[in-house]
Amino acid sequence: MGLNHWNLLNRDITACASCPRLVAHCHEIASTKKKAFRHFNYWGRSVPNFGDPQAKLLIVGLAPGAHGANRTGRMFTGDRSGEWLYRALFRAGFSNQADSTSCEDGLELRDCAITAICHCAPPGNKPSRTEISQCEPWLRKTIDLVDPQLVLALGQIAWKGALDECLKRGWYEGRRPKFAHGVQARLTNGRWLIGSYHPSQQNTFTGKLTESMFDDIFNRANRLLRRADSTRSAGSSLTSHGGELQWPSYC
Ligand code: SF4
Repeated sequence: MGLNHWNLLNRDITACASCPRLVAHCHEIASTKKKAFRHFNYWGRSVPNFGDPQAKLLIVGLAPGAHGANRTGRMFTGDRSGEWLYRALFRAGFSNQADSTSCEDGLELRDCAITAICHCAPPGNKPSRTEISQCEPWLRKTIDLVDPQLVLALGQIAWKGALDECLKRGWYEGRRPKFAHGVQARLTNGRWLIGSYHPSQQNTFTGKLTESMFDDIFNRANRLLRRADSTRSAGSSLTSHGGELQWPSYC
């Protein structure tokens, strides 16, 4: 596993045209453009995964923004949601810089990778159930390849998709946890699944998600990953059965 497999997976994702409605929508946005970006050469198709293929932290978003990732060709790049996400990642030490404006901006993720439930920008930011299920094999292959220690789902739809993947793999047993900001499920073999509100403008403009709430999520991710590292280096393998559902007090 490594960069070559990651690049091949990304190549296949960007060549995918399984959802005619979304493919047409991405092209349409790329040709009509937003006034502010009228000189920009839009990406206008499915957006590949971004980051470190051997990351311990895998972030699962919903779908590319019409004039963000669908424009720049990189997950969460070029819109307000991305500004929030990358600032938080930088503060938590998961990236080399806080700014994310284009594929040529020098941004590198550290021990972190970003994927999505749906790799094409959907009308109204709402992929249909069929489109989500068409895109599910890409999420499965991404999780297979990255083999993350911690999956962070941004928003309810990403939570459902990530949890479904964990259940299919036998990484989680027991009652299906409901989505909430800060919900945390312990998976098998020391893995974790965390849910966070999505940094959409709808959430950040209204104060439903604040920067400190978002920082708490990434600080917790850091603590859980460090704990897993220290357990491994102490020589004891984590073989716990998944199924423990927790809302930590600091969330
Ligand atoms: S949403 Fe996913 S499955 Fe549908 S066309 Fe885009 S990459 Fe393919």
